[in-house]
Amino acid sequence: MTKGNNEDGERMSRRVMLAGTTLALGIGAAGAAVRSAAAQTKISQAAAKYQNTPKGQQSCATCVNFQPPNACKFVEGTISPNGWCLMFAAKT
Ligand code: SF4
Repeated sequence: MTKGNNEDGERMSRRVMLAGTTLALGIGAAGAAVRSAAAQTKISQAAAKYQNTPKGQQSCATCVNFQPPNACKFVEGTISPNGWCLMFAAKT
């Protein structure tokens, strides 16, 4: 093996390492973008027809989307356990 071949190998290794680092940074940025998009998927209370009172037997406290003590996976703002909206989905 000649000295030239070793240098080529080292240069190639550095290129591979740099490419890997760039790829890892790219994936990290994409992941942050996805997380950011997910955080922005909540809709307004008006769009969900949210109300502060139950609808019959249905209320946020019994909805799978409710996040105690006062939030919802899909609707913005403060959500009452006694509230209700169009996206109600009963816990099973
Ligand atoms: S009823 Fe609507 S606002 Fe209440 S927790 Fe379920 S999805 Fe959220």
